[in-house]
Amino acid sequence: MKDGLALRRLFIAANWKMNTIRQEATELIRGIKDRMGSVSAVDIMVAPPFTVLESVGRELLNTRIQLGAQDVYFEKSGAYTGEISPGMLVDAGCTYVIIGHSERRQYFAENDEMVNKKVMAGLKSYLVPILCVGESWEERKQGKTFFVLNQQILFGLQGIDNHDLSSLVIAYEPVWAIGTGKSATIEQAQEVHAYLRNVIQEFSSREVAEAVRILYGGSMNPNNARDLLSQRDVDGGLIGGASLKAETFSTLVEIAEEVQRWKHHE
Ligand code: PEP
Repeated sequence: MKDGLALRRLFIAANWKMNTIRQEATELIRGIKDRMGSVSAVDIMVAPPFTVLESVGRELLNTRIQLGAQDVYFEKSGAYTGEISPGMLVDAGCTYVIIGHSERRQYFAENDEMVNKKVMAGLKSYLVPILCVGESWEERKQGKTFFVLNQQILFGLQGIDNHDLSSLVIAYEPVWAIGTGKSATIEQAQEVHAYLRNVIQEFSSREVAEAVRILYGGSMNPNNARDLLSQRDVDGGLIGGASLKAETFSTLVEIAEEVQRWKHHE
């Protein structure tokens, strides 16, 4: 820790959502790889669809980019047609798994109990969960932002010990900012990130809360990334739309690299 600041490595994570067939995925990941030459100060992950995990994973061998999945089921194996277990993700080469994305909560009725089971199951298989939380525009307007986030964090992380907590990644993704081109302001993002860190500190410890990385997600792009990433409690970005173009995603990584060096030397 330096001047009371934990030296958390910035983390830039791509969520490709339901995009790319094999050829497109290969082109995209090659484009990203080719532009990553000198990056060393930030962590990078891409989460493609399940169907291209293996082919993208093969492209990532001997690179610094890690593989993640966009979802996972909490059972180990069995009669769960259509689902993918944590062990299968590990077998496919994944290190990370996104859990509780607002699109899954909204379209697939995922609730905090399922999210919690998925986080636990991921941890048990040594995957690093990226737990997504965020309020809707209605909830923000009604002044319920912190209540909603508090519930999502408390229920989502129920029963997880301090050791596992400190390796975890949280993504604050205001639902109204996802895919809308309307990102949170730096003040809104910093306020929520500091709040989330404080909630984590209350049920764990200051050390754990300072170690947890909290990413911002919601229309992050090369125009707003520098300001967002420079905030004290913003430790990276979960990028949707802007991760589907190699050049844009690489620019975000380069910006993060600069901000990382600045944050550690300020
Ligand atoms: C996301 O879905 O995780 C996301 C942040 O999307 P976008 O960057 O397109 O807003």
